[in-house]
Amino acid sequence: MLRFSHRVERDKRVTAHVALTSRAFGCRGMYYSGDADPGLHRTVREVNERWGGEFLIQHVPEPLQLVREWKRKGKVIHLTMYGLPLPQVIDEIRRDGLPKLVVVGGEKVPAEFFQLADWNVSITCQPHSEVGALAVFLHELLEGREFGLEFKGARLRVVPQARGKRVEETR
Ligand code: SAM
Repeated sequence: MLRFSHRVERDKRVTAHVALTSRAFGCRGMYYSGDADPGLHRTVREVNERWGGEFLIQHVPEPLQLVREWKRKGKVIHLTMYGLPLPQVIDEIRRDGLPKLVVVGGEKVPAEFFQLADWNVSITCQPHSEVGALAVFLHELLEGREFGLEFKGARLRVVPQARGKRVEETR
């Protein structure tokens, strides 16, 4: 996925939550543009070490170039309140077998993203959040399969409880 235009101070938590949400819902990694932020890389590294998987994080200085390059091999989905409602396009997106780059914005997203995207998709036509939009989109795309994902090499594992917290060391 691609998180457009990260600002270190203002977006610290939201961008970290975009990364953690995309990791938990099975994305392979997150590119982000805007300010390079070592704190984000540290957060992802620590979560991978504890909770497993090989989620990647990479800063990209030229996000439009990334999107153009991605389109040579795959498809681009831009989440925006101005796009077509998810229920109208989700079947077509699921049927498409090519690798997907999901883009969420931050501050104003340049018009070119809307042109380059294969799908501009809205999760309701109301303004809310990149984290909320991403979670709903990925849940629908995966049809709930995120609940069964395994994260290889995890040091910790949650043992689900009706009440309270239980975490096991796996090694
Ligand atoms: N006016 C913006 C828009 O184009 O959706 C809302 C800005 S919001 C703070 C930041 C990002 O959250 C947007 O760029 C978009 O990726 C995502 N987002 C917010 N509301 C959304 C919605 N209803 N549907 C899809 N994505 C949304």
